[in-house]
Amino acid sequence: MNRLANGEPKGNLSRRIIEIKGIVQGVGFRPFIFQIAKRYGLHGWVLNTSGGVLIEVEGEEESLHAFLDDLTMQLPPLARIETISVIEAEAAGYQDFKIRQSQAQLGEYISISPDVGTCAGCQRELMDITDHRYGYPFINCTNCGPRFSIITDIPYDRQYTSMQHFQMCDTCAQEYEDPDDRRFHAQPNACAQCGPLLNFIGGTPLQVINGDVIKLTVHALQEGKIVAVKGLGGFHLACDAADETAVTKLRLRKHRYGKAMAVMMKDLEQLARYCELSAAEEKLLMSPRRPIVILQQRKGAKLAPSVTQGLPTLGVMLPYTPLHFLLLANYQQPLVMTSGNISEEPLVSSNVEALEKLGGIADCFLMHNRDVINKIDDSLTRVIASREAVIRRARGYAPEPMLLPEQLPEILGCGPEQKNTFCLTRDNHAFVSQHIGDLDNLPTLEYYERMIAFYKQIFRINPRIVAYDLHPAYLSTQYAKSIGNVQLLGVQHHHAHIVSCMLENGITDQVIGIACDGTGFGTDGNLWGGEFLLADYRSFTRLGHFKYVRMPGGEKAIKEPYRMAYGYLYSLFGKGANAFPKYIESIEADELLLMEQQMYKHLYAPLTSSCARLFDAVSAIINIARIARYEGEAAIRLESIIDERVIDYYDFDLQEYILNPAPILQGVYDDLENDIAPSTIAAKFHNTLTNAITKVCREISNLTGVKKVCLSGGVFQNAYLLKGLVKHLTKEGFRVFWQQKVPANDGGISLGQVMIAHYNVSK
Ligand code: ZN
Ligand code: ZN
Ligand code: FE
Repeated sequence: MNRLANGEPKGNLSRRIIEIKGIVQGVGFRPFIFQIAKRYGLHGWVLNTSGGVLIEVEGEEESLHAFLDDLTMQLPPLARIETISVIEAEAAGYQDFKIRQSQAQLGEYISISPDVGTCAGCQRELMDITDHRYGYPFINCTNCGPRFSIITDIPYDRQYTSMQHFQMCDTCAQEYEDPDDRRFHAQPNACAQCGPLLNFIGGTPLQVINGDVIKLTVHALQEGKIVAVKGLGGFHLACDAADETAVTKLRLRKHRYGKAMAVMMKDLEQLARYCELSAAEEKLLMSPRRPIVILQQRKGAKLAPSVTQGLPTLGVMLPYTPLHFLLLANYQQPLVMTSGNISEEPLVSSNVEALEKLGGIADCFLMHNRDVINKIDDSLTRVIASREAVIRRARGYAPEPMLLPEQLPEILGCGPEQKNTFCLTRDNHAFVSQHIGDLDNLPTLEYYERMIAFYKQIFRINPRIVAYDLHPAYLSTQYAKSIGNVQLLGVQHHHAHIVSCMLENGITDQVIGIACDGTGFGTDGNLWGGEFLLADYRSFTRLGHFKYVRMPGGEKAIKEPYRMAYGYLYSLFGKGANAFPKYIESIEADELLLMEQQMYKHLYAPLTSSCARLFDAVSAIINIARIARYEGEAAIRLESIIDERVIDYYDFDLQEYILNPAPILQGVYDDLENDIAPSTIAAKFHNTLTNAITKVCREISNLTGVKKVCLSGGVFQNAYLLKGLVKHLTKEGFRVFWQQKVPANDGGISLGQVMIAHYNVSK
């Protein structure tokens, strides 16, 4: 019913100028607009700008209304509108509807879509023998495929991606140009005639081996070989997850001894044979973000024991690139797919780097010639209390912005030392970076600095305010201080944890902040980590904390929980520590003497109020984990053995908001002496913390009237503790908030930092 086409006078028509911001590029937004414009016979144009999407559309009033309704109600699956402005204007006399050339505007910016797992449509075509792209490992469309990992700049157009070197063939070009095609302006569009291709490198010495690359890979895996597989954000190291020899070999070569490895399963059906699965977990696994989800293993699941090193949980992901689908469809068995890196360095992402760095680990290489521009790890999440809690926020999530409750100036939050992320703000957006890693090696530090520069460039942010952690030795702190010409603000670690939790939950008033954490630098110079705060965006009052104890050997006590146990016993019982013979006798005599001196003389024995260290101590006393081979191992093992039927708990001592765990340790030890099962002790210990923290909240609330509680810090990755607290506190009338979108661990610190800086520097 196009009246213009029917020759109606132009005067009956009107025009709308529409500006949309949000995730509207690389998600099929323009063809979507094109199609609804056509549906209602409207004329005009749509284009990508550096700031979003601009539309001019004209026609009858009624059709314009229908257009706007469809525009907001029928969005493509990955699109997200944050703001939309509509201006009325006189008709301009457009004769058709066009998708115009993208416009770059100085200083404008746009949200960039994270990478998206292969959609159902592409999966079907991939496996359809009659399809043009049958078996093509780089199939994608406007709804799926690489995004953030391949871009060099905005707007998101092919010329600003690593696809710029591939000239589309006629078939691909036709799809790309056709607004009715589901690959219309799909920037990474390609096929076997024109796009990226796989190659296989194997043998001794390593050489390119010709043949069916997928078959060669499958064969290598069957032989128990380790294959470096180039994925979306970098390389994986893959081997058969049921092959104990292969998994052990991978661990030895990678020097990764303790930490569980992630497994990729072919599909939900295969997965169900190995793991328990709730509806929420299934939804998460199948989501386009395709994270690794931590699941409970089924009893008797036949994976190599070395995959999880005895833990009852397993990190699982489903295929998320066409290459993964092809590989798993041909291999049929679960594959270990662990990060392709050496020790704690960032992921390896280029072919040259892979041969150089992974040469000592992998037997062969499954590579391709589409470059990874921005390396990005797999994301790791867990369902706690029926909701997703992100533990490592990376592929599929970053760089999607967090929406802030108010407009912020351009601020950089440098983040902490471990599990670093940084955060940049502009308007009401907080761009929390992907997981960067531990900033204790040069390659990670370089990755950190490169990514800060990249985020500044693509989001057009030039921060004049920089927030950093109070810990003077953190490399992120030193980085902040090396930036000239900015206003600097040091932010206390646990204040940042709590504000991070407030922000993602949209809380703007004062809260009771319970930070249960590893260690973070306190304003008194001690290592905090079990903090009871009254906090808002601007400041906090430390009303109480876990009682200070000494850590014999400092940092060393973190890696060796048996030291922490001694630190607790000696700090809380003094000479009375000898009343714990079953534990004391397990330590070498000279070691004991050394620790005693450190404690007595206060040498290399800093004070800490860390909650995570109490977990360490308990794990060591009951001999669950005397040594931590990776960060948090002792606590993870303690949680993993809990007997959930146990409702009993230990005594605790809370005075003036100081929690003295002496009665808890006494109770744990007595149970140990009485041969009570470790699974019971673990449950009682967790139940005790739930009771103690609930009491803390009750007392603070009585004092202040505050009824909102924010729970943050790495300890709250513990599902049992978090669930228990949410239940208890809710029952007592509190509103309880915890971290879901950004990690409760130090990956969430940078988000808190920027808001605190805003309130202290720019407001
Ligand atoms: Zn697709
Ligand atoms: Zn092609
Ligand atoms: Fe922390």
